[in-house]
Amino acid sequence: MFDYLVVGAGFAGSVIAERLARAAGKSVLLVDRRSHIGGNAFDHYNEHGILVHRYGPHIFHTNSWEVFEYLSQFTEWRPYEHRVLASVDGQLLPMPINLDTLNRLYGLNMNSFEAAKFLESLAEPRVPVKTSEDVVVSRIGRQLYEKFFRNYTRKQWDMDPSELDAAVTARVPVRTNRDNRYFTDTYQAMPMYGYTRMFENMLDHPRIKILLNAEFREIQREIPYGKLIYTGPVDEFFDYCYGKLPYRSLRFKHETLNRAVFQPEAVVNYPNEHAYTRVTEFKYLTGQEHSKTSIVYEFPQAEGDPYYPIPREENYAMYKKYKELAEETEDVHFIGRLATYKYYNMDQVTAQALAFFKRLGAEKLVETDSKRGFLQVTLDHQSLACLDETSKSLHTDVAAEETQSEAA
Ligand code: FAD
Ligand code: UDP
Repeated sequence: MFDYLVVGAGFAGSVIAERLARAAGKSVLLVDRRSHIGGNAFDHYNEHGILVHRYGPHIFHTNSWEVFEYLSQFTEWRPYEHRVLASVDGQLLPMPINLDTLNRLYGLNMNSFEAAKFLESLAEPRVPVKTSEDVVVSRIGRQLYEKFFRNYTRKQWDMDPSELDAAVTARVPVRTNRDNRYFTDTYQAMPMYGYTRMFENMLDHPRIKILLNAEFREIQREIPYGKLIYTGPVDEFFDYCYGKLPYRSLRFKHETLNRAVFQPEAVVNYPNEHAYTRVTEFKYLTGQEHSKTSIVYEFPQAEGDPYYPIPREENYAMYKKYKELAEETEDVHFIGRLATYKYYNMDQVTAQALAFFKRLGAEKLVETDSKRGFLQVTLDHQSLACLDETSKSLHTDVAAEETQSEAA
């Protein structure tokens, strides 16, 4: 019998499986319906020998030393700062909007101070700032909003920014300096040998068994286990009893071209023309040298794998009902982007899983299992010390983050 069945081998499932096995001495069966580990962060060498991300570009960035340190046990890193261009009015301009974006778009030669004044003159203050339109228009005005945000957002979410939570476009800052990096986090790097290699190292433990191409429902009754940790869509788990939680999906069109370079930066966003939102050229991300180059186009769509929870008041309300049901369901825990219906990045999911492990350590690992009527687990001193070490300060960040998203 396995102590834990973990459903989903993405960041959430793999981190918790690793912690349970290595730090708490538990036996874990990790299952995924896909044919590989890594969840949406899965990467692989394509038929041309180029390392690509099957489910779109995954760039690692975090401000959490603890998350970075934790993952560093399983990979070396390649320093990488992500840069994006937006195709606007026939030019490829730095995104997020910065001083150079403004000067090139309007043919001006402003300094930072003048650019700040310029944006101030365009901005249309809105109180309160509730929607994704409010966020942008109140920062930079309607014209820039329409050039850079409105149509991209409509394509990506099939919804006007005025119908979407402010948190969505608030992910993208606006700058009046010349910093053209997409992220400003303290730690920005890519796993040196790819995400999949990192996951392999994470899961390489005798107490972890992995079962791929396995649907949870199909194996649920075949395999004896103590507790369940579920990282798939929460609505699916409960047979959509309160209705389907809306997710946005994508179609990925991968191509390999017979030339060394395709575009001038890792990602080019297409806010206006074309049905796709962005094109990524993987060699920028991975640093790989190759005479050919592989790219991916992202076409947003309604049907397909659930990639993005859709941040909207009414969706949070439906999720809240599932969350209450989840809390009432004994011996099952829900973590990860889909199981907690949160638009989380990889580092946030890692932090969430580590925080959950800490709570498990504090509340659940040492307990009498009333159903079975025996002491299910006792941790030795070393495991307890390890639990403590892992979870020291990180979790205040995550708790704050979770509270914030809950409130949003
Ligand atoms: P997932 O990675 O989705 O893993 C869940 C796993 O559970 C899946 O493998 C699924 O097959 C499995 N599963 C579900 N239900 C079942 C079932 N019933 N039975 C068996 N298996 C099941 N984050 C960043 O930090 N940086 C980025 O640049 C970035 N780019 C992104 C780009 C795209 C296009 C997308 C969609 C996401 C991006 N993210 C990025 C977010 C990142 O993918 C997630 O934060 C992370 O993958 C979430 O991990 P997870 O384990 O919660 O979920
Ligand atoms: N966005 C936009 N134009 C851009 C980039 C982003 O309108 O050029 C909006 C869009 O709504 C997008 C959101 O900002 O969904 C968040 O962008 P991010 O790059 O963080 O999206 P992700 O990488 O999560 O798909």
